[in-house]
Amino acid sequence: MELALLARSGSRIFLRGAVLAAVATVTLQTGCGDWRDGLEVWHGEHIDFYHDPTFELCGGTRAYVDAYVPFVATELGLAVPEGIAFAWLDDQAYEDFDACAETSGCQTGRRALSRRPVFLHEVAHAVAQVHGLNEQPFFTEGLAKALDWFEDLVVPSQWVAIPVGEEKLPDPRPTMELPRIDIPYAGPGSFVMFLLARHGAAPFVAFTRALGTSTDLATIRRQFRAAYGLDLDHETAEYMQLTPDAASTAALECVADSVRPYDCAMPEIAWESPDAWSHTQQMDCADEAVVGGSSADWTWPSLHAVTLEVPMTGTYTIAATGDGDFQAQLGACFGCPWQHAAVTLRAGGQETVHLEAGSYYVRIRVDDGSAPEVRFTLNRTP
Ligand SMILES: [Zn+2]
Repeated sequence: MELALLARSGSRIFLRGAVLAAVATVTLQTGCGDWRDGLEVWHGEHIDFYHDPTFELCGGTRAYVDAYVPFVATELGLAVPEGIAFAWLDDQAYEDFDACAETSGCQTGRRALSRRPVFLHEVAHAVAQVHGLNEQPFFTEGLAKALDWFEDLVVPSQWVAIPVGEEKLPDPRPTMELPRIDIPYAGPGSFVMFLLARHGAAPFVAFTRALGTSTDLATIRRQFRAAYGLDLDHETAEYMQLTPDAASTAALECVADSVRPYDCAMPEIAWESPDAWSHTQQMDCADEAVVGGSSADWTWPSLHAVTLEVPMTGTYTIAATGDGDFQAQLGACFGCPWQHAAVTLRAGGQETVHLEAGSYYVRIRVDDGSAPEVRFTLNRTP
């Protein structure tokens, strides 16, 4: 529900981006103040992070948003941009940006704004815009969604999303013709993820740059062929074959490590012994490894993520223990999105899973503002 609401409202801001830019210019010229007035700022390596001084940030929040800029640029094979700003604002300051009203996050130029302490989707837009990729509605929202699939949620990583109640993926082509205000998120996100996974980032960058703002399907077909050397209708047909049954789509190959969640860029934790891995984290907001924040009347979820290398393919028992309510997800950082099957455990949960050798992430989320000590373990089964 929240996602659906966000999806509709979030797209509105781009429609009015030009208006917002004009308003901001006038405000500065007439000396009526600056949007940054009264905000606290932290100058990171890649981002200026602004926030209302009454808000409390978890210890790792600013560094998490900061390092997302080079992550996105590197995943797309682009230069790391400078001058990106992120602002976490209270409702009133946020709604002063007319173009942002009724949304949770919005972006204009290099500036990403949100009512939340973390909103990577808008930062992805800002990075894409610097490189001329942020124009065509379907592919703009699809890219931001593909690069921030989880938002702040722990969800099953069935990245190629089939709508509830439907048997197969909808045809994305009619959606490519829609104006920004009508663009949904999951469908474009799935299709862009499919393109990135199948062919890597370079043709996508060339394609969307050349496309500009066009929503004309004939133009989209022509530019797709120019960038990919492939027929859009053929690729669409391939995409629509995907089902939740990984075995049936195993023949659809992809580029290695082509679309990774940001969690896959988090610090690696070594194995304790050849057969046992564990990681323990106190989900205390003050800890510099915990991401999140709170205002006087709201606490956002706390996140923490690490990575591990599974050295050999085999059967493993995974377990999550802790003294509170949380979710902990194990997911792969390699392979095709449509073949992934992430496992999400609650406190006290345990499962036996088959894991291919390779890189994985463990992502922990706490919703209730508590600070449980969470322990996640993997043990190889002989
Ligand atoms: Zn967006």
